[in-house]
Amino acid sequence: MHRGEVIIIGAGFSGLATAALLAKQGFTVTVVEKNEQPGGRASVWKEGGFTFDMGPSWYLMPDVFERFFSEFNKKPDDLMELVQLNPSYRVFFGPNDTLDISADLNENLATFDEMEENGAEKMKKYLESAKYQYDVAMNQFIYKDYVHLTDFFNRKLVVEGTKLHIFDKLDHYAQRFFENPRIRKILEYNIVFLGGTPYNTPALYALMSHVDFNLGVWYPMGGLGKLVEAIYDLDLSQGVNFRFNEAVTKIEVDEKIARKVVTEKDTLNADIVVVNADYAYAETHLIPKKNQTYPRKYWDGKAIAPSSLLFFLGLNKKLDNLIHHNLYFHPKWEKHFDTIFKKPSWPNEPSYYVSCTSKTDSTVAPKGGENIFILVPIAPGLEDTEKIRENYYNKIIGHLENLIGENIRDAVVVKRSFAHNDFSNRYNAYQGTALGFAHTLRQTAIFRPRHKSKKVKNLYYTGHYTHPGIGVPMVIISSQIVSEEIGRYHAKQNHI
Ligand SMILES: Cc1cc2nc3c(=O)[nH]c(=O)nc-3n(C[C@H](O)[C@H](O)[C@H](O)COP(=O)(O)OP(=O)(O)OC[C@H]3O[C@@H](n4cnc5c(N)ncnc54)[C@H](O)[C@@H]3O)c2cc1C
Repeated sequence: MHRGEVIIIGAGFSGLATAALLAKQGFTVTVVEKNEQPGGRASVWKEGGFTFDMGPSWYLMPDVFERFFSEFNKKPDDLMELVQLNPSYRVFFGPNDTLDISADLNENLATFDEMEENGAEKMKKYLESAKYQYDVAMNQFIYKDYVHLTDFFNRKLVVEGTKLHIFDKLDHYAQRFFENPRIRKILEYNIVFLGGTPYNTPALYALMSHVDFNLGVWYPMGGLGKLVEAIYDLDLSQGVNFRFNEAVTKIEVDEKIARKVVTEKDTLNADIVVVNADYAYAETHLIPKKNQTYPRKYWDGKAIAPSSLLFFLGLNKKLDNLIHHNLYFHPKWEKHFDTIFKKPSWPNEPSYYVSCTSKTDSTVAPKGGENIFILVPIAPGLEDTEKIRENYYNKIIGHLENLIGENIRDAVVVKRSFAHNDFSNRYNAYQGTALGFAHTLRQTAIFRPRHKSKKVKNLYYTGHYTHPGIGVPMVIISSQIVSEEIGRYHAKQNHI
């Protein structure tokens, strides 16, 4: 059954997943992408025998991918070689001061017991609560769309919301369990992945510790680009058409219906338009002013998620003291968080993340080499110049060399930096954000930008700005929500 022409703007994870789901429903789907490859923020850069995932490197919440692929009677394991990392990651508190988080929960409990009196018991309780939060959130809140206030503020939320600690802040919540600031950092760091800080993010997101400690940290051999390939291949098998290197410049709206999508090269007819490109950009650049649900001043008043300063480095030697995922937590990490949300500025004393996937995967670096990816979270909207980047390169490399006790600088044979200007130029990111729309309480669920335009009947949005939010699993869920909504709407309207 042919149900109409869908144009999807953007081939990020959410655009790719929406394409497969709508094609399965019988729509004719075309994805238009401004860049040369699928994946969006999860692009892959290859140079000199090194392979770099340019965005996500943590494969978390494997249950979400299982659920998505099961729609097509497939399993992630059939499409990728997934391995569980052990240790899951290494935390550096300073030189010769590290802690490995194991894939084995009992080992972690023993570690916490050494760090704090009754640490294991406290951790068991924390994780029990995190599992409860995760299960309730996944079963009742996350896979659901919110259109009216009453969809969100119902009795269930008031009862569950208190138990889920939606109205508390994560740092405050973690302090109720643990005194040791190191343990609290381990429970809170992953909030940066959601574009927030432990001080402005609802304690509901303690559920991320269930993800971390119980569900495990996974890696598809070849890199996260293999997950992009798996969904892209699924799209092709469903008959989705792709147009790469073709930016959309305008969505033509007539009597509240999006009729055409204009690109740099062509004009495409549409029955339905789904925007996966950055929401803020699309609303303010692609749609006529009178049809914008969220005009410029809406975005100016919102908490935009951090940008990042990234370095992709190919080394011609092996490093002994890094593992696959490495996190450095500065003793005064609050100061760094303040520079992201309170007083936007480049941080003097940054915490940072280093990935080295060549520790697990021999295909991503030439023999005897390592591929290093360094990520420093930075406030969006800051001035970004080559000089600033180079200063940070020297600062971070110097710091990292001291931290691991090994020379890096002289072994660098491939080097690339990526920050605000690149996020804006490559992805049309508002204020150069890496992650989209932060997860503050006022920007959660019903308070995130809507999946369906209020002003244009057949215009939809999917991806990290929308509910449920940031991160690869979340944007896959966003695509499931939006494709179900499109299916329902068009069954009712039947206007095609
Ligand atoms: C550095 C970094 C590290 C991360 N680490 C992790 C991690 O470890 N684990 C995790 O789960 N998540 C991680 N994330 C978050 C995750 O990558 C994102 O939430 C997710 O990939 C966003 O997907 P999306 O489909 O919503 O948007 P995008 O990936 O941004 O896709 C939008 C697409 O729209 C295209 N587009 C924009 N404008 C136009 C136009 N005018 N015409 C045509 N196309 C257009 C863009 O080029 C892009 O391809 C990370 C993100 C970054 C940046």
